[in-house]
Amino acid sequence: MFRVSDQRGPARRPSRRPRSPPRRPPDSGKPGLHRILLQGHYDRAVPDCLFCGIAAGQVQATIVLDGKRVVAFRDTSPQAPTHVLVIPRDHYPDVAALASASDGLLDELVGQAHEVAVAEGIDGTGYRIVFNTGREGGQTVGHAHAHVLGGRPMTWPPG
Ligand code: AMP
Ligand code: ZN
Repeated sequence: MFRVSDQRGPARRPSRRPRSPPRRPPDSGKPGLHRILLQGHYDRAVPDCLFCGIAAGQVQATIVLDGKRVVAFRDTSPQAPTHVLVIPRDHYPDVAALASASDGLLDELVGQAHEVAVAEGIDGTGYRIVFNTGREGGQTVGHAHAHVLGGRPMTWPPG
């Protein structure tokens, strides 16, 4: 006669064999970036994050779009007649982390950036969407955001 414990057999220890490492994208020369891409670095809200504060309504901003997952507001230091920042409500440190979310959020954010351009009346003449990324990319706020700039001719290359 078997007892329940007999039917299970000897207790199995969890395998100590290391899992094979996750596959990296082909251009794996930048370990920092890929760490973020593979982990999908993400937090719902980060204390002391300025843009989390704006998304939560705790920091004042001139909101131009108030969506379920995306918020847009005017930049306080506009570099063009239209200068709007489009952000995910949830905290992603930069656009690379946002891209790794793979739930369509980056697509939605870019689509909403276009809707901002339409609402601002600059879609016909053209506009620029910029994701400054990292220190040398000029990123100063560590919550992913798209700049939507327009209302004047843009120069190239940017400074
Ligand atoms: P970046 O330098 O690409 O990280 O962009 C950050 C942007 O946030 C800059 O263009 C700033 O002018 C803008 N900014 C900083 N503080 C605020 C704020 N309280 N409300 C709106 N825009 C802000
Ligand atoms: Zn944030």
